[in-house]
Amino acid sequence: MYKPNSKKRPTMESKKPTSNQIASFAEVVRHVHHEIVTTCEYCGRPMTRSDVNDYGSFCETCYMKEYYGL
Ligand SMILES: [Zn+2]
Repeated sequence: MYKPNSKKRPTMESKKPTSNQIASFAEVVRHVHHEIVTTCEYCGRPMTRSDVNDYGSFCETCYMKEYYGL
């Protein structure tokens, strides 16, 4: 019943990521932050996914104008 191997933890965390893994992670980050997913409803400016997360259907500029009168 006793399996010594099952107690072994995965070795991933003790390994350093390869440069290839770092590059693909950077690619994911770049993709999420720079991919144009929509345009501002107000001025038509292209918006990235992270803009949408932050400001919804307006770009940052129009969001500030709309909600804070800036
Ligand atoms: Zn706008």
